[in-house]
Amino acid sequence: MVRRQAAAFSSSHRSRVEIDLAALRFNYRLIRNFLGEKTGILSVVKSDGYGHGMEAVAAALQEAGADGFCVAEVEEGVILRETGIKGDIIVFLGFRPDECRAIVDYSLQPIVFDPEQLSLLASSAGKKKDGIGIHLKVDTGMGRSGIAPVLVPEFIRAIEDAEGIYLAGMMSHFHGADQKATGSSFEQNELFRQVNCLLRGSSMPGAAHIANTAAMVRFPEMHWDKVRPGISLYGYLPDKNTCNFPGLKPVMSLKTEVFQVRQMPAGTGISYGHSFRTDRPTRLALAPLGYNEGYLRLLSNRAQVLVHGRRVPQVGNICMNMTALDVTDLPEEVLPGDEVVLMGEQGEEKIDADEIAGWMGTLNYEVLCLFGNLNHRCYLNKSDL
Ligand SMILES: *Cc1c(COP(=O)(O)O)cnc(C)c1O
Repeated sequence: MVRRQAAAFSSSHRSRVEIDLAALRFNYRLIRNFLGEKTGILSVVKSDGYGHGMEAVAAALQEAGADGFCVAEVEEGVILRETGIKGDIIVFLGFRPDECRAIVDYSLQPIVFDPEQLSLLASSAGKKKDGIGIHLKVDTGMGRSGIAPVLVPEFIRAIEDAEGIYLAGMMSHFHGADQKATGSSFEQNELFRQVNCLLRGSSMPGAAHIANTAAMVRFPEMHWDKVRPGISLYGYLPDKNTCNFPGLKPVMSLKTEVFQVRQMPAGTGISYGHSFRTDRPTRLALAPLGYNEGYLRLLSNRAQVLVHGRRVPQVGNICMNMTALDVTDLPEEVLPGDEVVLMGEQGEEKIDADEIAGWMGTLNYEVLCLFGNLNHRCYLNKSDL
């Protein structure tokens, strides 16, 4: 879903995510150069561009040459068109009956998995002269949405019979392309090859696409006509241990500033529940952000942040809008207004979404969506500066 930002009032945004659009364009070009000329890119900008802001992300990617995009919902596709995005826009979650009109009017390409959807679309497609492109999603082993491979021939006939509709793509999705064991990805790709062979005999071959970031960087033989990278555009890999793709630049940082500094005696309980107690005289810096900003309570007493270019520990339970930091070990006095980097770079130090995801027991994807979709976004073009 797309979340609208309140009208800009920058002095109130002490906590913010910074989005470096130059890094995003850099990542796109890196991927573009890695792929052969014949492989198309469908840039995945669902979930408000993985938290980076879909409209700004898509515009920057289009500037870098992108001509195909993937969103989750019809509404997102409509917004992209209204903000001037050209090229193919694929809608992963398909459409509801009352969204047929928008599919036609905005030339979106929905995924279909039910022949009923074809007749619905055909009745709306009537007036559109070049027809409506759809993508057929085949479940080759993900165990989620799509149709079983055995149903493909029947479905292709239904598409051929549906007036005003053509098959723009045949797609599938890997369940474990980032896993150490690669066997299941090869099996899925082989099933995909078989359903695509069926298609080649039909009147409308469509583009075949199955690769997410992990498959794109690991299995060139699975690139097919187009690839669908998401996380790599934003500067990360699904799993650094199995995927190797040097050079990506993280696009998002999360920053705030100290609003109070206090000297606490040894033995002081800190924040709700006193989950941390000082064992020495402690300089405590307070930052105006908490789980309301996606800095989850489960990070309490586990996270580190950057102040004055050094790592300092977060201490005590993280609150809704407030977080305590132990800055005792910093050589220079910390003052209100000093920058706190929760994710990103400061001086020589760096904390990335992978490290935070490790503290949280989750994936970098979730960290980006959380931070990005819960904070005010500032756009920069850092590498251009
Ligand atoms: C989200 C998504 C992608 C992108 O995956 P990454 O791992 O972020 O590259 C590709 N295809 C489908 C169907 C998706 O849902």
